[in-house]
Amino acid sequence: MRNQIIRIASIAAIIAVSIFLSGCKQRPSNTAQSIAREEFGKLTDGRIADLYTLTNKNGLVMKVTNYGGTVTSLSIPDRNGNLADIVLGCDSLQGYLKATAYFGAIVGRYGNRIAKGQFILDGTTYNLARNNGPNTLHGGLIGFDKVIWEATEINDTIGVGLKLHYLSKDGEEGYPGNLDVTVTYMLTNNNEFRIGYMATTDKATPLNLTHHSYFNLAGAGTGDILKHQVIIEAGKYTVVDSTLIPTGELRDVKSTPLDFTMMQVIGSRIKELGGNPVGYDHNYVLNSGDKELALAAKVMDPSSGRVMEVYTDQPGVQFYTGNFLDGSIIGKGGKAYKQYYGFCLETQKFPDSPNHPTFPNSILKSGETYKSTTIYKFTH
Ligand code: BGC
Repeated sequence: MRNQIIRIASIAAIIAVSIFLSGCKQRPSNTAQSIAREEFGKLTDGRIADLYTLTNKNGLVMKVTNYGGTVTSLSIPDRNGNLADIVLGCDSLQGYLKATAYFGAIVGRYGNRIAKGQFILDGTTYNLARNNGPNTLHGGLIGFDKVIWEATEINDTIGVGLKLHYLSKDGEEGYPGNLDVTVTYMLTNNNEFRIGYMATTDKATPLNLTHHSYFNLAGAGTGDILKHQVIIEAGKYTVVDSTLIPTGELRDVKSTPLDFTMMQVIGSRIKELGGNPVGYDHNYVLNSGDKELALAAKVMDPSSGRVMEVYTDQPGVQFYTGNFLDGSIIGKGGKAYKQYYGFCLETQKFPDSPNHPTFPNSILKSGETYKSTTIYKFTH
């Protein structure tokens, strides 16, 4: 009788311990892929923004709102299989309405800067709002990060995703042409976040679409990214003036703190960059050039073992280390986002290309179809 009680007690203890452990650790497993929609919040004009939860077969979870096509969270495993949300963001739609940092958003019509908010196209001078000192940044006052995208769910053998569609009207933010844009987000069963961009226009327009997630592979809000290690497949960068507008010169990274051709710790040379604020905010000229899907960058976080590879067919990538974050934005879980709390790898055309005829073409003409792909692949 006594032995039986001991046996029952030990079985109960084992069950209790395993329940406790499974509660502590969220191990990604072979789950069924799924996609679910809920209301995220209301815009000031009463329109509703939705939040989609995408789960792939390996248990990775990505949340996306159709407000700005914003990735609000992305949970991926570390070397022990534990999931953590690795993108900065806000807990509510209200947070995104106030935030100015472009967390997780689609950026357009023209990502990065256009000098003095001006360009000449087919003999006409176009004027844009100057929302970044003397220049235009990331599409203007109401860029693609601040509009509602029409979303369609995708659930197929590759994974789960969302097709996001937006019609940017002729004259919107000062740009010419009705621009029809479709951005497809896929969370694949290969643990990739795949972005497909497609656009057509009825009048020539500058176009530079990119994605603006701030990553911290140790977990959003846990600290800075200075110990992350990075490779960027670029031998040159676009030299900029004090307002971050390219001078036109493409300069070698060799023997400078901008050299990431071999794996380097982000924080090891950051102070040598100088400037105000200090940090990486540079467009790298990718060795692969235009039009070929190739590895652009690889980032590793030694503490968690999480690795992210970035592939693109774009000619450039803006490496930004969250230099302007100053703790004033309170992010998810009430955590203040301080300087260097996240890094961005924004695949793109070069900044201010419409004013630099020697840079890769950034003009989409009527009758052409713009197509581009970027992949963020996660391993450990
Ligand atoms: C730019 C930064 C800017 C940041 C957030 C990045 O793409 O390069 O200069 O501060 O976006 O707005």
